[in-house]
Amino acid sequence: MAKSYPIIRETVRTRARNEIVDVTPRVAEAVRARSVQDGMVVAFVPHTTAGITINENADPDVKSDMLQKLSTLVPKHEPYYEHGEGNSDSHVKTALVGNSVTVLVEDGRLVLGTWQGVYFCEFDGPRQRELLIKVVSFE
Ligand code: ZN
Repeated sequence: MAKSYPIIRETVRTRARNEIVDVTPRVAEAVRARSVQDGMVVAFVPHTTAGITINENADPDVKSDMLQKLSTLVPKHEPYYEHGEGNSDSHVKTALVGNSVTVLVEDGRLVLGTWQGVYFCEFDGPRQRELLIKVVSFE
């Protein structure tokens, strides 16, 4: 039997136009607070210029390297951009990292690799953002 819990709506305040925020503790807390031992959690970002991914959580330089590389790959200005808001780069970066991650839960803990963390990715900040977390138990 599976048991689903109501969606948790977390607020994420970002401080720069491009920023990676480690939200692993928030996702882990969502699971812990529901005492789920065996299940999964989906973290979803309901925005078109912010996304979410899983990556290296041990060395903070990886965050800045990722942002730097994404900005090199996807420049803010291109002569062919047509989108009037002027944030086409933010939309493209969001499409590259995606809008959701799924993490398995075992023994009440997130099943992540040793170096992995869950990263909220801001590409058009600073803003107040939403992070939706859905916990499902298989018990
Ligand atoms: Zn736009």
